[in-house]
Amino acid sequence: MLRRAVGAGMDFLIGTYDDRLVAASLVIVVVASYTALDLVGRIRSTQGVLLYGWLAAGAIAMGTGIWSMHFIGMLAFELPIDIGFRADMTALSWLLSVMGSLVALALLAHQRLTLARLLGGSLSLAGAIVTMHYLGMSAMHITPAVLYDRAWVAVSIAIVLAACAWALRIGFALPTSGGLSEFGRKSAGALLLGIGVAGMHYTGMQAADFPASSTSAAASELDWRWLALLICNTSLLLLATMLVAIALDRRMENRTAQLVQSLQMANVQLHHANRHDPLTNLGNRQLLRERLEQAIESAHTDRQRVALLHIGLDRFKLVNDSLGHDAGDTLLTRLAHAMSQSAPPSDTVARVGGDEFLILMTGDVGSRTLHRTCERLLALIREIDYGQTRLSGSIGVARYPIDAYDASGLLTASNMAMYSAKRAGRDQYAFFTSELAQRVERDVTIQNELGNAIDRGQILPYYQPKYDVRTRRLVGAEALARWQHPTEGFVPPDRFIAIAERSRQISDLQNCMLRAICSDMRDWRSKGLLVPPIAFNLSASCLRDPDLPDFIASMLSEFELSARDLICEITETAAVPEIEQALDTLGTLRNLGIRISIDDFGTGLSSMSYLRDLPIDQLKIDRAFVARLGQNVDHGNAIVRSIIDLAHSLKLDVVAEGVELESQLSTLAELHCDQVQGYLFSPAVDADAFSAFLNRSTRIRTRPQQ
Ligand code: C2E
Ligand code: CA
Ligand code: CA
Repeated sequence: MLRRAVGAGMDFLIGTYDDRLVAASLVIVVVASYTALDLVGRIRSTQGVLLYGWLAAGAIAMGTGIWSMHFIGMLAFELPIDIGFRADMTALSWLLSVMGSLVALALLAHQRLTLARLLGGSLSLAGAIVTMHYLGMSAMHITPAVLYDRAWVAVSIAIVLAACAWALRIGFALPTSGGLSEFGRKSAGALLLGIGVAGMHYTGMQAADFPASSTSAAASELDWRWLALLICNTSLLLLATMLVAIALDRRMENRTAQLVQSLQMANVQLHHANRHDPLTNLGNRQLLRERLEQAIESAHTDRQRVALLHIGLDRFKLVNDSLGHDAGDTLLTRLAHAMSQSAPPSDTVARVGGDEFLILMTGDVGSRTLHRTCERLLALIREIDYGQTRLSGSIGVARYPIDAYDASGLLTASNMAMYSAKRAGRDQYAFFTSELAQRVERDVTIQNELGNAIDRGQILPYYQPKYDVRTRRLVGAEALARWQHPTEGFVPPDRFIAIAERSRQISDLQNCMLRAICSDMRDWRSKGLLVPPIAFNLSASCLRDPDLPDFIASMLSEFELSARDLICEITETAAVPEIEQALDTLGTLRNLGIRISIDDFGTGLSSMSYLRDLPIDQLKIDRAFVARLGQNVDHGNAIVRSIIDLAHSLKLDVVAEGVELESQLSTLAELHCDQVQGYLFSPAVDADAFSAFLNRSTRIRTRPQQ
């Protein structure tokens, strides 16, 4: 058990190795290295607090692994004397190993592996291993001191440094960089690192000479057999736990990645859906707004112009109702296709409502181009073929920076221009003007004040008398809304009714008018006057209000009136588009006993065909036809005659409105018109003035027969 050192003149102990423990130490160090390399992937893809968690866990696993290898190696080394290890130094050597691993991991776990990082990492790891080893040796507390062969020590350091650098280079390289598979790369790295650490250990042991008289002062401190078992098991357990944790984490990360991916896909789809119209696949308002804002911004910096075209189809509801929704959809799709085909690629075509489109134009938007584009679009709409009736559109044009400075302003301006094109008779285009803006401004004032006006009773019914053509007697009146505005003066109903319809205040207005009419009628009756039926105007939008018949019924009972006292006037154009809903409400009103009159007859679209289906009692000939009576130009008389004949054949009364001249009255008498109203007799007057009319007529009617 003794060997004589050559030239030293001294005897040394001869150490042997326990093969099983050597094998165990090798397994542990390779597994530990594999764990460490595997960890790098985790650390690289983690951020925040978790990163520190992984770093700490990795350092502990790797450090413990390396340390165990060394310690088990030490235990595997048997000297013919009793040896032990000092606990404090042993613990310190473990700490060193862990700290060295920590520095190495922290340095290497970066996305980019630079030479400096590789060198730093290798140095710190190798340094830790070397110090740990020699510190561990001194933990045996051998006296007299162990002698070291310098050459072997140098070799041991060189081995560990080279192995560390090489292993880290392979193992920590990014997955894309090598031909090896991920597992192969890590295994190779782990094997190298294991061999390096083990090689260092065993060459380090080779460097140590234990004098024959050696004793270990720490012999009694730690029992090595028990220690070997404990360390083996603990470190393998630790490493296994670590590997399982990594595997679980990776699975979770994969699942998270999948989730993130499907979420991203859903997001892309959602983004598209949020910005496109599903029917035509054109952009929608949102997309257009975004593009408009961008266009304005770049136009601002480049001193360029932007134009926005608002296209509204005329009476598209009618098309939809007469052809059915499917046909309407096909038509819209065809139109959308045609519009986007004809627009240059720099333009954005969007569908922003059932029958409304917007076109954003950039680049050349000089007025010649705009005029030409509008003409082309109108022609394109007219060419969309859908049977007998022609389709048409109205276009409003607004320009940046002439008409507005931002997206909202431009959208409003083009919308206003579109409405003015519609008002001017449809199938045309209009540019935004400052007069339009003023009008809109006044509209906004009116709209804001309308609610108050209704509440404060500023809106009152005036009554225009109606006369029987044959007897010239008063047979009724039409109630017309009058608003005496405190600052604007008289506001004509044509202005505020349309606004109320748009702002949904029309029901309130309608109800307030009805209440006032019924109240006036009761007052007149209470004065002993004979009160003929009073006609009131009903807006189309109110026909959709399911509470309307109930409200009217409650008014009738509150003011002790009968349904025969009221006549409801609705305009032809109002009745037709919503014919289904209108029929319902009209039916209910008529069942109550209220008579229904069609206002402005002849101005609507497909006049005659629906007459038979509507529950009506009376037609009112529009004053435009009355105005042409007797002028002998176009067949004015013929039209009125045929309306009257048609009405009579359907057993309907005919009222002519807007009668201003005696000659008109006599022609109407010849054509057998039933009733007339107009300035020839009287304009609409307030309730007091109208009671004078009633007074006269009551006296005539109740005059005792002579
Ligand atoms: P409308 O129902 O066709 O009413 C007849 C319009 O012709 C009234 O205008 C009336 O003042 C006017 N008029 C009467 N006789 C003559 C005449 O001899 N020559 C001329 N040139 N005009 C005459 P107004 O009062 O300005 O009403 C305009 C429209 O406002 C009405 O047209 C009606 O559609 C609507 N309207 C008025 N009051 C109400 C209401 O209480 N509710 C609803 N929904 N609409 C109303
Ligand atoms: Ca009317
Ligand atoms: Ca009328």
